[in-house]
Amino acid sequence: MPRFQAPRRSVTFPRETAPQRSLPTLFGTTVPPGMYRITKHIDFCYGHRLLNYAGKCRHLHGHNAEAVVVLEGGELDDRGMVFDFTDVKRNLARWIDDTLDHRMILCRRDPAVETLRALGEPLFLIDENPTAENIAKIIFEEARNQGLPVIEVSLWETGSSCATYRPDSV
Ligand SMILES: [Zn+2]
Repeated sequence: MPRFQAPRRSVTFPRETAPQRSLPTLFGTTVPPGMYRITKHIDFCYGHRLLNYAGKCRHLHGHNAEAVVVLEGGELDDRGMVFDFTDVKRNLARWIDDTLDHRMILCRRDPAVETLRALGEPLFLIDENPTAENIAKIIFEEARNQGLPVIEVSLWETGSSCATYRPDSV
């Protein structure tokens, strides 16, 4: 009689714990010929809630998010860089830390704004619904204002949910 042998099973990670954040964010795109591309990941925490939304996200809640900022250039500086990662950290990551981190990002029409403001809660108010899409766009516009050669910003709201903003022309 053959000895009992347990069936072989392949190990799979549940979707929530798969290391998806480390994957490139530019779905289906490649670096154009003759160009260089660098990517910087910036972690921060924020709270929000969505207006005109029937699901759980209509309630105040928070995220440990990660912004993924993509810079591109055809020329390298005399150090051999598209842009210094340290300068991205010093400027854009600093702005995120000072402006968005540990704040409630809310639509300025949200009725909760008045109460939270009276309680002294730190707010960052925007004209649109504070979705991952709109927060990605805010970070993109700040990066551009800082002079970074940004082409795209993604916001990983959770380990499995990501929104990306890329304008028509960069
Ligand atoms: Zn949310």
